[in-house]
Amino acid sequence: MTSQDRQNPSVIVIGTGMTGLQLVIKLRDAGITNITVLEKRDGLGGTWRENTYPGVACDVPSHAYTYSFEPNPDWSNYFPSGEEIHNYFTKVFYKYGIDACTRFDEAVTHCSYQSGRWTVKTSQGNTYVSDLLFCATGILHEPAFPDYPGLDTFEGTMFHTARWDHSVDLKGKRIGVIGVGSTAAQAIPELIDLDGTDVTVFQRTPQWMVKVKDRVFSATDKARFRKHPYRMKIFRELSLLSFRLNTSAITGDGIVDRIQHRILAWIARRNLEKSVWDADLREKLTPHYKFGCKRVVINETFYKAIQKPNAHLITEGIERFEAGGIVTKNGALHGFDVIVLATGFNPAAYMRPMEFLGKGGLSIEQAWEKKVRAYRSILLPQFPNFFLMLGPNSPIGNYSVIEMAEKQTDYAIGLIKKWQSGDLPTIEVKPEGLEGWSALLKANMGKTAWASGCQSWYLDGDGDPLSWPDSWNKWVAMMETPDSHNFVLSKSD
Ligand code: NAP
Repeated sequence: MTSQDRQNPSVIVIGTGMTGLQLVIKLRDAGITNITVLEKRDGLGGTWRENTYPGVACDVPSHAYTYSFEPNPDWSNYFPSGEEIHNYFTKVFYKYGIDACTRFDEAVTHCSYQSGRWTVKTSQGNTYVSDLLFCATGILHEPAFPDYPGLDTFEGTMFHTARWDHSVDLKGKRIGVIGVGSTAAQAIPELIDLDGTDVTVFQRTPQWMVKVKDRVFSATDKARFRKHPYRMKIFRELSLLSFRLNTSAITGDGIVDRIQHRILAWIARRNLEKSVWDADLREKLTPHYKFGCKRVVINETFYKAIQKPNAHLITEGIERFEAGGIVTKNGALHGFDVIVLATGFNPAAYMRPMEFLGKGGLSIEQAWEKKVRAYRSILLPQFPNFFLMLGPNSPIGNYSVIEMAEKQTDYAIGLIKKWQSGDLPTIEVKPEGLEGWSALLKANMGKTAWASGCQSWYLDGDGDPLSWPDSWNKWVAMMETPDSHNFVLSKSD
C-alpha cells in the first residue's frame, strides 16, 4: 500500500451503537472519509435499541452520557430514559450524515485478514474489503440465560429483559423476575406499579444499592444550558469527576481510596436501613460482600417497590421450572403467567458470534484460548489494523462508557497517524506488548473490590477482573502515552 493510499484508507466500522457513531465522526475529523458502517439490525443505537424494558434508563448523568463534541441542552432529566438516549443518538446519526455510509440489516458473519487487508462478509451475502477494521460491537449484547431443569416446559410467557416482548399485556398478571442487578432494579418497580400485577423477585445475591435523586431539568435550566454552553460543560465535568473518585474507591487501596470506599459503603448501608423497615426483609437485602465487588446499583425506586403488598422477594434457591411456574429448593411452586429473565449478559462475547480470523487464519477463539485479552483493551497480536472497541479491561464500571469510547478512539487515531506517516508498517502489537500489558493488569487486580470474593460479570473464567484495575486518571494517562516500542516495526519483529 503506498503512503498516498494510506492518507485516506478504507475503513469498516461494525456497529451503530454509541461507540460506532463517534468513531465515524472522529475518523472523518482526522481526514479519513472512506468509511462503511455495517449494522446487523434495521436500526441504530446498540444497547439502547436492544434494551427497551420498562424503566430502562441510564444511571450515569445525562450530561456525562453525552459526546464531548455534541452537548445536549435538552436532556429532560439528570438520569435520562433509554428512549431519550436513543433519540439523542438518532439525532447525531442524521446530523453527521452517518446514514450515508451505513448499511443496515448486514450482520457480519466473517472477518479475515488476507494479503494485508480485511475481508468482511455479511448475512446479505455481500463481501467488503478494507484497510482498517473497527469492531464497535459493544460489550453486553449477548443475553445470558439460566439453565435450570425444565426451563423449556414453562407454559406461560418468558423473555429476557434485553428481548422485551411488548406485545404481552402485563396488567393483572402474576410475574416472576429472576435477578436483582442494575436492569432488574429499574424494571421491577415498573412491573409492581402496573395495574393488578403480582410480582415475585428471585434474588440469588443481594446488591449494594445507592440512591441518587433524579432531577428534572426545567425549561429555564435548558434555556440556560443553551445560552451558556459552559454550564453544560461544568455539569458534565462535575458528574465525571464524582464518577472518577468513586471508581478509585473501588479500584484503589491508597488511604484516600479507602476513606472514600468506607464513605460509599456507609451511604449504601444507610440507604438500605432508611429505606427498608422490616428487619427480615432488610436482612435478605443485605449484601455480605465488599461494597463495589459487584457493580453498584444506582437506584431510588427498588427498595420502596419491593415493600409493596403485591411484591415478594424470594431468596430460596431455584430448583426447576415447570409448566405452571418455578419450584424453589424448599419444594414450593410459585405460579406465574409471565417470567422475566433479568439474568444479565455474557461479558466475553465482544465481536462474536462471527468467524474472526487474523494472520495465517488464526481464529479469535484460538487467540483467546487461554484468556480473553487485548493490548490496551483494543489490539491483538496477529490481528493487524484491527481495533476492538471497549475490549477486555476497558475501564467499565459505574462510569460513562462514552468518555471511554472517545479516549480509545483518540488513541486508535494516533496509531493510524503513525501508520500513515510510515512510522508503523502495520498497526500490530507484538506478543511481548500483550504480555507486558497482562502483567500490568495482574499486578493491580488484587487491590480492587472486584477481586474481593463475590461472583459477578466483571470477572473472567480465572476470576480476574475484566475491567481496568486502576484509576481512571492513570488509564487516561496511559492511553495518551506513546507506545511504539510495543508494535511490530519490521518483518523480523
Ligand atoms: P447483572 O448485573 O449481571 O445481574 C444479573 C442478575 O441475575 C443478578 O442478580 C444475578 O444473580 C441474577 N442471575 C443470573 N443468573 C441467574 C440464575 N441462573 N439464577 C438466579 N439468578 C441469576 O445483569 P444486569 O442487571 O442486566 O446488568 C448488567 C450490566 O448492564 C450492569 O452491570 C451495567 O453495567 C449495565 N446496565 C447499566 C444500566 C445503567 O443504568 N447504566 C442499567 C442496566 C444495566 P447473582 O448476583 O447471584 O449472579
